[in-house]
Amino acid sequence: MDKISIIVPCYNEEKVLPAFYRETAAAADEIVGAECEFIFVDDGSRDHTREILKHFSASDCRCKYISFSRNFGKEAAMYAGLENASGDYCVFMDADLQHPPTLLKEMYRVVSTEGYDCCAGLREDRTGEGRLRNLLSRTFYKIIGRMCRLEMGDGAGDFRMMNRAMADSVLELKEYNRYMKGIFSFVGFDTKWIPFHNEARAAGETKWTFRSLFRYALDGILSFSSAHAALPGIIGALLIALAVLTALGFALSGRGLPGTVMLICLILLLNGMQMLFLSILGQYISRDYMESKRRPIYIEKQRGGVWSSDKSSGKSKRDGAACISGHSKPQSGT
Ligand code: UDP
Ligand code: MG
Repeated sequence: MDKISIIVPCYNEEKVLPAFYRETAAAADEIVGAECEFIFVDDGSRDHTREILKHFSASDCRCKYISFSRNFGKEAAMYAGLENASGDYCVFMDADLQHPPTLLKEMYRVVSTEGYDCCAGLREDRTGEGRLRNLLSRTFYKIIGRMCRLEMGDGAGDFRMMNRAMADSVLELKEYNRYMKGIFSFVGFDTKWIPFHNEARAAGETKWTFRSLFRYALDGILSFSSAHAALPGIIGALLIALAVLTALGFALSGRGLPGTVMLICLILLLNGMQMLFLSILGQYISRDYMESKRRPIYIEKQRGGVWSSDKSSGKSKRDGAACISGHSKPQSGT
């Protein structure tokens, strides 16, 4: 029997938690071939969320909870949930029922029978979100799509079920400023997308303010791209080109180079050079910053063939059975 860990970050969700539990537990009961555990992470709530979670865990042995000492943010709550999950499959769900529990059954079928490592919900629309937030979100995903070489499309959220190999790889990225959508994209693995309609929040309010969304967007860009470090370099090069072209233009026209024009060209040139050097410095700093995250250089999904014991020892991802008494049977690594 497989085990699915349902990880639920909760911040001031007293109004919606009972309905979430009722609906999700009913959906979990429908899943054939797997049992579920609920890992609720109370992210420093200031309402009665913790008392409700205590009650769930006392009345249902599938329910566990972790309570933070203060609000650390959804990313930290998801990390804590994943770190403490023991399931063969792990799924993140928001507590506000915006992620339909009825999809759990289909997600499990996809990851357990279709050979995918992950089944992710793809939000088709943004019902229940303000127009301005909608517009800003779309713009953000366009920018991040251009700046980072990773797939982080609009509509791809945190609602996804993944197998143990992918969950362990996500946990290997221990960076402090976490941006889960980028991390999912970074670790790779085969993902099947299933579209779903975004419902409005069942109760309570969104925890995002424009300020926190802006910070989150910045985290996303800074964690996965260093393209912005090239910006001063581009501006610097343009300033230098402008200075040279202006000076040349005046010199070639036979009018000579008036003192004020020469001064302006000199200022442009020096500023341009400063920007250029700033960009070079920025490139070094951004590379050092990326190094400091100590991300894995590669992520292994599977191995095939016969490996000497020292190389493959401790690798749970090793494929197939061990060779018996010298009959080295080649194994496929599909
Ligand atoms: N959340 C959290 N910590 C926070 C903010 C949000 O654990 O600091 C949880 C929240 O309780 C919910 C999920 O993250 O389960 C999504 O939050 P919300 O519905 O406010 O975000 P939105 O759907 O508006 O993007
Ligand atoms: Mg929500």
